[in-house]
Amino acid sequence: MTIFRGFLIFCLVLIGIQLALWRGWLDVPPRWNPWALLDIRETPNLLTGFKLWRLQDDPLLCQQALSRSSLRFTALADSRSDVACPLNNTLRVHRAGVAFSSSFIASCPLAAAFALFERHDLQPAAQALFGQRVARVEHVGSFACRTIAGSQRRSQHAAANALDIIGFRLADGRRISVLQDWSKPGKNAEFLRQAQQGACRRFNTTLGPAYNAAHRDHFHVDMGRWRMCR
Ligand SMILES: [Zn+2]
Repeated sequence: MTIFRGFLIFCLVLIGIQLALWRGWLDVPPRWNPWALLDIRETPNLLTGFKLWRLQDDPLLCQQALSRSSLRFTALADSRSDVACPLNNTLRVHRAGVAFSSSFIASCPLAAAFALFERHDLQPAAQALFGQRVARVEHVGSFACRTIAGSQRRSQHAAANALDIIGFRLADGRRISVLQDWSKPGKNAEFLRQAQQGACRRFNTTLGPAYNAAHRDHFHVDMGRWRMCR
């Protein structure tokens, strides 16, 4: 009984704090306020995942967060709901702190996760290992109206909620390829390992060559419901 009462009081206090933060009665720095807008430039903390999750069903909030990052994008109108693969809350991503091999359609949360990944994981790894920035991300697309290969389940690509990255080009022009460098011991492989670990921190699912043969030449990252890092 006492344990139950203690738990109840704990929950009430927690709810009280959330309410106070939400109503603005309590003043904490935005990075420690779960209801404050995600700031992509800030070092990620315990609340980043929650703030990212909040962008899922709120296109306006999501675009607000992106407009304060280095991501350049054009918001897209939602498609009709009677098409095979309807698109909601999507944008065309032109560039981030890096250029892309081509612009691509992305769900807004996928774009936000990418912006976090690029700033806080990808560039720091490149600086540490090569002393220079990644200039370009090479990808083979995000939107494809299809199911997962060998399954009936709808792929995250069908909602532009996934991106397939095949490699990176550094500022000095050096190219790092998932297919060619993943299993060749050396700095490039180390960079790919670190890039994948970083992707696992920001995206809900990250799959690479270690997962299966279908991913031997790319990292698949998506913002679907399942958390997976393989
Ligand atoms: Zn994929």
